Amino acid sequence: MKAMSVAAVLASILAAARVEAAMTNAAEEVEVYLVESNAIVRAPRIVHTDEEWRRQLTPEQYRVTRQGGTECAFAGELYRHKGRGLYRCVCCGLALFRSVDKFESGTGWPSFFQPVHRANLRELMDRSHGMVRTEVRCVRCDAHLGHVFPDGPRPTGLRYCINSAALKFEESSPAASK
Ligand SMILES: [Zn+2]
Repeated sequence: MKAMSVAAVLASILAAARVEAAMTNAAEEVEVYLVESNAIVRAPRIVHTDEEWRRQLTPEQYRVTRQGGTECAFAGELYRHKGRGLYRCVCCGLALFRSVDKFESGTGWPSFFQPVHRANLRELMDRSHGMVRTEVRCVRCDAHLGHVFPDGPRPTGLRYCINSAALKFEESSPAASK
């Protein structure tokens, strides 16, 4: 009888440890939409030290994505960019926007009316500069991308106002651009 209760206690300790391990793993993984497989998959978060990001990025890319900066209007390379393809996160390469969803907003920043999938963006309340805005970040590496506003064109009515410095463009084959 006594031996059984020790076993039961051990079993519950092991069960608790497994739950904790599963929760730790969950915290390190995130659901992302992969255009390559047209599916939502669980993927590890991409975490680097500040020093590693500094090495990987240009000073402007680092300032915008890792420090929440904003590039000057009309200054970014991709503002007037018209190629067909995908705009990926400059930090981790996750596909974020498609060229077919880009529109001329007149703001001076690349603007999109929808992301490739909402799963790939994390939205946060931003109360800086005396405004209430919705910040958007890359869900996989937490890069600051820009903001989303409710004054975009149809069909979504949304305007994703994104820094060029947070994106890298990938020209796609007709099949990949949907
Ligand atoms: Zn990213």
